[in-house]
Amino acid sequence: MKMRLLLYFCIAGIIAFTGCNHIQKDATQSYPHNQIEDMKAEADIFAMDTYMKIVAYGAEAELAVKAAKQEVQRLDTLLSPESAQGEVGQINANGGGKCSRDTAYLWERSLQLYKDTDGAFNVMLYPVIEAWGFINKEYTIPSQEMLNQLLPLTDITKVAYNNAGKQIQFMEDGMKIGFGGIAKGYTSAKIMDMFEDYDIKSAMVNLGGNVQVKGKKIDGTDWGVAIRDPENEENLLGVLQVADKAVITSGGYERYFEKDGTIYHHILEPSTGKPANNGLLSVTIVSADGTLADGLSTSLFVMGKEKAKQYWQKNADKFQTILVTNDGEICITEGLIDTFTSQEKEIQVIRQEQQY
Ligand code: AMP
Ligand code: MG
Repeated sequence: MKMRLLLYFCIAGIIAFTGCNHIQKDATQSYPHNQIEDMKAEADIFAMDTYMKIVAYGAEAELAVKAAKQEVQRLDTLLSPESAQGEVGQINANGGGKCSRDTAYLWERSLQLYKDTDGAFNVMLYPVIEAWGFINKEYTIPSQEMLNQLLPLTDITKVAYNNAGKQIQFMEDGMKIGFGGIAKGYTSAKIMDMFEDYDIKSAMVNLGGNVQVKGKKIDGTDWGVAIRDPENEENLLGVLQVADKAVITSGGYERYFEKDGTIYHHILEPSTGKPANNGLLSVTIVSADGTLADGLSTSLFVMGKEKAKQYWQKNADKFQTILVTNDGEICITEGLIDTFTSQEKEIQVIRQEQQY
């Protein structure tokens, strides 16, 4: 039993962190080896500041993966807050402009999330994120005076958006959008949608540890997605068994710097413009909606455990979550009881009927 568990962990670890080479092994149980090779296509890409892996199975897998790769590159430019060739970059430089389909969709989803999360998720935080050096990696602690100047520019109510014409306009100079908290989830969701056109029944995309899977593995079993321990990248927190889901994690460990013994990470509390410090080390969201999963991983991290619990209790039909607190607790929502396995630590279950 112990051996099986160990093997299982290794397999899942491969998926989330280095791709999914094990698939061939699993798949050979039900398909001849050469047939699987013919059906399989994969690509490794560096885009959106991260390493990505795409794997698909099907008669048109080669074409599908090629199209996905091009789409990732197109979205990378389109959504980059700084690129002069990109739409969001131009909107930021000009204080507004016309949004094409992807940008309009992301803006509308982001605005909805801002409202649903009481402002925990705010794509207009970008000027503050820039001030901390999280964009150019020249890390610095902005003075309170600087934050006081920048925070008014993050007021999303000062963005005019015309739903019919998809026209966006900033009302203050210096306002900027940054879709960094939601773009990867949108990208993986979009790839999965594109794969429909190529009749791909089994696929996996891993965007820097954010995973979305289509269908099951081709041997008919669920995909195993490893969740890392936020305190130690060598360790796994556990493994999720999923099909047709995005599994997206936010954690301070993903980008941070240290100054005078204090860690400053990249997920900011919108009200203060400072790194969120509400007792969570990482938040994993499991949802069929990749865009939502990404937006919520960032949002629930900002909310902290109690608010995150309450938020889930009101929205349990849309997602499940794993919260890791800075005092070592692992909390999973009840929909994950049968799908999440962890080796050592005790798991607390957040249930729907609890009243807070
Ligand atoms: P994620 O890894 O999905 O949690 O996204 C983190 C990224 O989202 C950061 O690197 C910032 O670019 C951006 N971000 C930070 N704080 C917030 C926030 N409160 N709301 C929206 N985006 C944020
Ligand atoms: Mg996110």
